[in-house]
This record gives sequence, C-alpha cells and structure tokens, in this order.
Amino acid sequence: MDHFLYREGRLAAEEVPIERIAEALGTPFYCYAVATIERNFRVFSGAFGDTDPLICYAVKANSNIAVIATLARLGAGADVVSGGELKRALAAGVPASRIVFSGIGKTSDEMAAALKAGILQINVESESELDDLAAVAGELGRTAPVAIRVNPDVDARTHDKITTGKAENKFGIDWPRARAAFARAAEIPALKPVGLAVHIGSQVTESGPFRDAFARLAGMAAQLRADGLGVESLDLGGGLGIPYGDDPVLSPAEYAAAVASALGDLDCRLILEPGRVIVGNAGVLVTRVLSVKEGISRTFCVVDAAMNDLLRPTLYGARHAIVPVVEAAAGAVPKEMEVVGPVCETGDTFGVVPLPPALKPGDLLAIRTAGAYGAVQSSTYNARPLIPEVLVQGADFAVVRERITVDDMLAREPLPPWLGLRAVEVTGT
Ligand SMILES: *Cc1c(COP(=O)(O)O)cnc(C)c1O
Repeated sequence: MDHFLYREGRLAAEEVPIERIAEALGTPFYCYAVATIERNFRVFSGAFGDTDPLICYAVKANSNIAVIATLARLGAGADVVSGGELKRALAAGVPASRIVFSGIGKTSDEMAAALKAGILQINVESESELDDLAAVAGELGRTAPVAIRVNPDVDARTHDKITTGKAENKFGIDWPRARAAFARAAEIPALKPVGLAVHIGSQVTESGPFRDAFARLAGMAAQLRADGLGVESLDLGGGLGIPYGDDPVLSPAEYAAAVASALGDLDCRLILEPGRVIVGNAGVLVTRVLSVKEGISRTFCVVDAAMNDLLRPTLYGARHAIVPVVEAAAGAVPKEMEVVGPVCETGDTFGVVPLPPALKPGDLLAIRTAGAYGAVQSSTYNARPLIPEVLVQGADFAVVRERITVDDMLAREPLPPWLGLRAVEVTGT
C-alpha cells in the first residue's frame, strides 16, 4: 500500500498532483510520500509487538536528511555505513544513542567521529578492525562499544550483488572465528563487546535464510554467555524484500515470526536495520517522454531520466513498474514499449512495460518503487545534473534536495595553470 494514487485520472502523491510538481521543478525528479514512509515504519515496528526492538533505519537506502528526520520523529534510530551517513543521521536529529555504525572498511577518522559522537555501537567486521578501533579509542581515552558482525555462511537466495552472508562474501567475521573474536575484544581494555550482528543481504523474499542466520547468531550468543561473556544485544540487520511487481514477498509479520522462532526465549535487546522496506514504495521517479521511436523489433519510449538517476535496472536487472501520470483513456489497449534513457549505454533501460498507445513527447511517466537505492546511487555520468528530491505531506510539497546543475559542477573543476585557459565561465543558466 502506498500513497501514489490516481485522482480524477491524474497521478498524485498524497494530495499533490504530480503534474503540479513537474511544472514547478521540471523533470526528472524524485518524489517521496511522508504518509507511506510513516505507514511502513509503523507496520514494521508494530509487527514486533511487545518485543520493542530498536529499529535503526538503514540510511544507505535513502539518505536524504528530510527522509531520515521524518523517521527520527517516529523514534527510529539509524544504521550508517560511512562518516557521511553518520553526519547525515546526526543532522537529521537521530540521537547518537540510537546509531549503529556498520561496514567493512571504516577509516580511523570515521571511527573517531563515531566515538566522539557517542553512538550506540560499532559493528566490527574483522579481527584487524578490532585492533584499529582499539587504537583510535585508546588515543581518545574512550571505550568503544562493539558488536561482532558474524558471517553466518547462509545463502539469502537474492541477487548475487546484494548477497552478503556467504563465506565467499567480504562481510563479517567468518562464523567459526567469531566466538574467539568476541572473546578477544573482551580482553582489550579500550573495547567493550556488547553484542553480535548479522546482515545476510537485501531484497530477501523467503524466511528460511533469515531463520538460519538468526538461529546461528542466537546459538553463538548462548555459547558466549556460557563462556561467561556478556551479550547484551543482537543486531539482525535488514534485508526484508518488497514487491517491485507481482512477485511474492515476506510480510513484516512473517519476518517478525521468523525472528521470534529463531531466537526463542533468549533474553537480548534486539536491533533491526530495515532500509528498503521502509522507503522503497514511498518514492517515485518522475520523468518526461522525449520521443517515441518505432523500431523494427520494438517501440522505444525515450525519457529524460536515465541510469545515472536510477541505477537499479542496470546494476541488478531490476524491473520497476512504470505508469503514466495521466491515466490512459478508458478502453485503450496498452502497448508494450521499452522505456530507455538518453545515456550512451545499451544498459540504460528501464525495461519493457505496457504503456498507453497514445503516449507522446511531453507526457509524464512515474517509475514506481524508487524510494530505496534510487537517488542515493545517482551519478553525473554523461554530465547530467543530479536531480531534485521532493517530499510530500498531505497537500504540501517541499524540495528537499535542489537540482545540482551542470554549472554547479563546472564551478568545482579548476583548470591547471599550464593549460593557459581561463576558468570555465559559469553563465548561471
Ligand atoms: C544495506 C544494509 C541494510 C539494509 O538493507 P535493506 O535491504 O535495505 O533492508 C541493513 N544493514 C546493513 C549492515 C546493510 O549493509
């Protein structure tokens, strides 16, 4: 369920017609609905009932400050994977005591920033990272709260590029070594091991892999406790998949049931790191048709958004539903078209979808379920500007990231003196 519905034949975000935003800002742009973000958060947290887990929204899914702040207002914490995301979470008002720092490669500066901010825990992914963190914490005269991220060697049965919990993946400390790593952390004065963490991948659509991974983690927690070591929390990561079309997925309630059955009566504080399931269907990418080109083998619909704006189709072979902003005339038989962007790559395609047969240049399309791993993965490839992001709440909309123009980019490219050229004249158009 989302809040992008047709009102009198026109697609609206909550109560705001998409056409109105397009008129004000031009295209393409991302548009997010606050009502959907809030609903998704409430449904997800509600599924856990009295368990009352700490829900640390995975900022990498959509790191716009206004989006993070919308969630912080509901009590969400944040899972960050870089110093930049840490800064964003803090700027959005997430209390440091609700921030978890994950990631396979943290610099000393990032570790220091996290320790100075006083975040809840740093998830450590290798033995050598334990030493590095201890050195940074020692220098600052602080004790670092750490969780050991375990690689459970479980196949999440999702896309290869977002599978993170198999032995051959770079993430986490291998399952057979994690217990010793935890014990070692307990002996380093500048570290305080507080828990275990796991994250097996993203867009996971079955409960089996979750259950296997969580059961391994719970078993290890019990072992560590038997060894006399304190395990206060279990961080179960994110990864719950969402439907991009009609594909079957796991509901938050089924996911919560998998958590409960794997953990049994283990008394541990739970941390969860959902990203996609919170923001995925809360966003659309709005684009304008540039031309409709009849090819020999198919009809191409060329739009002004491209792979640099939304990389998922190119990177993961993802297929997003694409709908016209103005509903097709009643009885019109949809026509299959391949929706492609202007970038000079054959991979710059959003896939073949049914569209109104009368579609013409100037018409608007909405690429659905683009709220997660959309704007955050955008680039300026082909010297294309970074596009605006808009947040809608009820009948209001606000630009929450401005368009980063080509002039903005050129202004940051000084020329070396030996070329004998004057700095690029920025015309400010
Ligand atoms: C990416 C990531 C998440 C979020 O994954 P989703 O599939 O968006 O829920 C959570 N935790 C970690 C450590 C991650 O890397």
